Amino acid sequence: MGRTNRKYLSSSRVFGCVKCRTHLTTVDSMISRQFNGQHGRAYLFSVVVNITEGPPVERTMTTGQHVVRDIACCKCETTLGWKYDHATEQAQKYKEGKFILERALFTDVNTPSPPETNGDDGEVRDFDVSSDASEIVVMG
Ligand SMILES: [Zn+2]
Repeated sequence: MGRTNRKYLSSSRVFGCVKCRTHLTTVDSMISRQFNGQHGRAYLFSVVVNITEGPPVERTMTTGQHVVRDIACCKCETTLGWKYDHATEQAQKYKEGKFILERALFTDVNTPSPPETNGDDGEVRDFDVSSDASEIVVMG
């Protein structure tokens, strides 16, 4: 989508697009791992960069009515998840302006050697986040 100046993130753990490894966010921006996306587990982040946002759409989720935008990688245009524009339920307001990334669609790009992919079965190697669990603030 024309944006050539991609941001590069610096953190103990940087997450990038699983397809082209464009930097998206870091472990420091992770809010919660308690979400589910279309492809399984999804994580909530406060900041995601190098993405393009689609038009706002109303979507009914398990937690109520939301206005969300699909977000896609600015380089390879893979749809990565969505952003919350608006939450109807008061208890869900903390998600407004935050981003969901599908776990299957981003990868840890800090590893010295690229993780092996297992081909066509959709398996993505699990990166170990359990060691950071005590630092993750789960809201709501
Ligand atoms: Zn990409």
